[in-house]
Amino acid sequence: MIKHIFIKILILLKQIRSGWILILLVFFPIFAVAQDIKSIPILLHAARIFDGEQIKTNTSVLIENGQISRIGTRESFKTTAAVKIIDLGEATILPGLIELHAHLSFQNVPADTVLKHGITTIRDLGGPVHQPYGGNGSLRVLTSGPIITAAHGYPIPILGASDIAIAVSTEEEARRTVRNLINQGAVIIKIALEPGGEIGAPWSAHHDHPHHGHQHPAHSDKKQIHSHQALTDHPASNVKQEWPLLSEEIVRAIVSEAHQHNRKVTAHIAEVRGAQIAINAGVDEWAHMPCNQIPRQLLEKAVSQHVKIVTTLDTLSKCTGIEHNTRTWSALGGELLYGAEIAHPDIPRGIDAQELIYMMKMAGMELAAVLRAATSKAGQQLDIPLLGTLQPGAPADIIAVQGDLHHQLKNLEYPDLVISGGKIIVNNFETAQKEMIQ
Ligand SMILES: [Zn+2]
Repeated sequence: MIKHIFIKILILLKQIRSGWILILLVFFPIFAVAQDIKSIPILLHAARIFDGEQIKTNTSVLIENGQISRIGTRESFKTTAAVKIIDLGEATILPGLIELHAHLSFQNVPADTVLKHGITTIRDLGGPVHQPYGGNGSLRVLTSGPIITAAHGYPIPILGASDIAIAVSTEEEARRTVRNLINQGAVIIKIALEPGGEIGAPWSAHHDHPHHGHQHPAHSDKKQIHSHQALTDHPASNVKQEWPLLSEEIVRAIVSEAHQHNRKVTAHIAEVRGAQIAINAGVDEWAHMPCNQIPRQLLEKAVSQHVKIVTTLDTLSKCTGIEHNTRTWSALGGELLYGAEIAHPDIPRGIDAQELIYMMKMAGMELAAVLRAATSKAGQQLDIPLLGTLQPGAPADIIAVQGDLHHQLKNLEYPDLVISGGKIIVNNFETAQKEMIQ
């Protein structure tokens, strides 16, 4: 698409023999957006607000120059400048949600769809690597790039290696791969420690059920055949073939190289062996709640190392160990971060309220705690200052949903207001909106 437009521009340039058209085409939209953001501050009033920490009432939010400039009581806003006022009535204002485990690029999910459904930032964990972009009226997209794995390791037997995985066999190769990914824009390094075969896991399904939802239209047939072969080898013998795992030494090298470049490492873990390697090697984050039951002692060790777990409970709800692991992790004081695996076929392409409901149910968390896991705590995990909060200086990534979330959490999937970097993307409150000079 972009290539197509570029070619058209080149043809136009050749015809006119003037660089001015190109300059106008390239710079005009940027000026237009910048003007739009800078032009008029936006003042939001609503019955309640979740500011990234807690739920409050009688608090309004002022947005200027793409950032939150002030929050305070409704009465405290007595500005003399021109302000666009949006009165949201009984709605709840929140920071845009942050999805920490997505596969947007690999599955070609439209970023605009995700943004319109309340996710303002995603971290793509497995897919093509690129520099972070967006956040100014478009979805903010960060990536890990391809998953580092063992030769013939998961997910290669199912998905191949193109754009989704890189196999390494030595510590040196692993370190070089980490450096290359970081140079190309990876904000985190993802590894796989997956021998396969966990009951209830999407990647254990084969035949009619493509792994993980990562079915690529152009290659789906080939991948399903691979999947079938990898798991059953000879169907008659019914013997499962294990996928090879990265050694502890190689994972240590990956963690050390990533930390030298100020990056964390997240691991796809689903059972005990992978968990043990990750703990021994000092992996920072687990990209899923493990599917199989993990002994309390190992979870305790991970908590003591300040490991964080990205939930993805919705896609793993059929796994045998999910409830035990989540309940134990939470009881031990372990931190959970929101991730629902956008692009998985069973998951909404936006906020997944069911994921939050599972977190509340299995981990015994209250509403404010699960919202923190999807906003301020996720922003901290991404090292983007104030992202996921509604504090002065935070990026103006804001959503609003009808009513009180305590009663209608599902409403989160249908936000009536979405603002990205101060730019209004969705506004179903238009009728209540007026431009005025106070
Ligand atoms: Zn995934």
